[in-house]
Amino acid sequence: MRPGDGVPPTSNISVRRGEPLVIVDRVNKHFGELHVLKDINTTVARGEVVVVIGPSGSGKSTLCRAINRLETIDSGSITIDGKVLPEEGAGLAKLRADVGMVFQSFNLFAHKTVLQNVTIAPIKVKKTSRKDAEKTAMELLDRVGVANQAKKMPAQLSGGQQQRVAIARSLAMNPKLILMDEPTSALDPEMINEVLDVMVGLAREGMTMIVVTHEMGFARKAANRVLFMADGEIVEEATPEQFFTDARSERARDFLSKIL
Ligand code: ADP
Ligand code: MG
Repeated sequence: MRPGDGVPPTSNISVRRGEPLVIVDRVNKHFGELHVLKDINTTVARGEVVVVIGPSGSGKSTLCRAINRLETIDSGSITIDGKVLPEEGAGLAKLRADVGMVFQSFNLFAHKTVLQNVTIAPIKVKKTSRKDAEKTAMELLDRVGVANQAKKMPAQLSGGQQQRVAIARSLAMNPKLILMDEPTSALDPEMINEVLDVMVGLAREGMTMIVVTHEMGFARKAANRVLFMADGEIVEEATPEQFFTDARSERARDFLSKIL
């Protein structure tokens, strides 16, 4: 079987940079009566950058959380690098370690230094030696431009700096995929670009990324594909160019008229 066989045809986009890394196949999720994810199908290729946009409450965060199994699903399957996400168990922890997650609210450990925030998972989960973990962490902190903050506590940093630490922390596990859920929404406007620049850099280096964001600049610069969600469904998939200039669906055009 070749990679891609058996993958549902979800997109007419020709930009495919590699074999499928993430396959979301007919995923459904309810919260009580609320049908939050309705038969979601999509495939993310290795090295691809997918921007997810859509109105509040459309299921974007739930989809991200399902891909990282922070949320269970009712039916369907999610496959990451050829392995179906299990419900629980050791296999889940291992798969999850392959998926970096960056949240809107940074979620740094408040009582650990910046450096410790970046080294803790490699040391505890991957059993990396402290020396090696610190060396890698300093390289990553340097890459996101906050190496000089390594000894501080998160609260001593600006929001933009904290979010860059959060990105460095997710990179420290050497993930196959990074999920970012509105990574710049909680930031003061003057700090948004410093985080977006790091994200664009990652995209250019070939990191596979799924990013929930309404930052059109990022989508235009870095995304291979835009996925528009409304009401628990993927309503439209297009290149950023197509989507922003000529969205097909009424719902997408309506949404764009409100945010642009
Ligand atoms: P988005 O990220 O697009 O704003 P979410 O995925 O956060 O949307 O939410 C989709 C829908 O599911 C919303 O109606 C939200 O209120 C609901 N929802 C999200 N999480 C929960 C939960 N843990 N329990 C009940 N309802 C939830
Ligand atoms: Mg959300």
